[in-house]
Amino acid sequence: MADCLFCRIVAGELDSDKVTETERVLAIKDINPGAPTHVLVIPKEHIASAQDLDSGSGDLLGEMFEVMTRVAREAGLTGYRIVTNVGPEAGQSVFHLHFHVLGGRSLAWPPG
Ligand code: AMP
Ligand code: ZN
Repeated sequence: MADCLFCRIVAGELDSDKVTETERVLAIKDINPGAPTHVLVIPKEHIASAQDLDSGSGDLLGEMFEVMTRVAREAGLTGYRIVTNVGPEAGQSVFHLHFHVLGGRSLAWPPG
């Protein structure tokens, strides 16, 4: 999608701090980190949010979770949080699916 921030990052039109990638998934550092490790794991195809996933998304989700596990391991995290916001009320500000991988400090639960 031409006016989507993460589609433009995936296409290389905008710079990002890449952590790793696979055929279908890109992982970048969050520009405004909320923890010492804060990585965004993004599908290269445009999907607006988690509510657009279904039973046909299994392979992509498996690949995304493999990337998240690798990101956490390579960052040396033993405990971390994976979160995705759905809709503005929940804090979603970029309407292209992404999982936040957060760690490196103690994380309060429930979140504020
Ligand atoms: P959310 O608010 O859950 O949609 O998450 C969007 C995240 O994208 C926020 O944590 C932002 O800090 C982050 N973000 C926004 N623009 C960029 C960018 N150009 N590169 C990396 N992360 C970004
Ligand atoms: Zn997009």
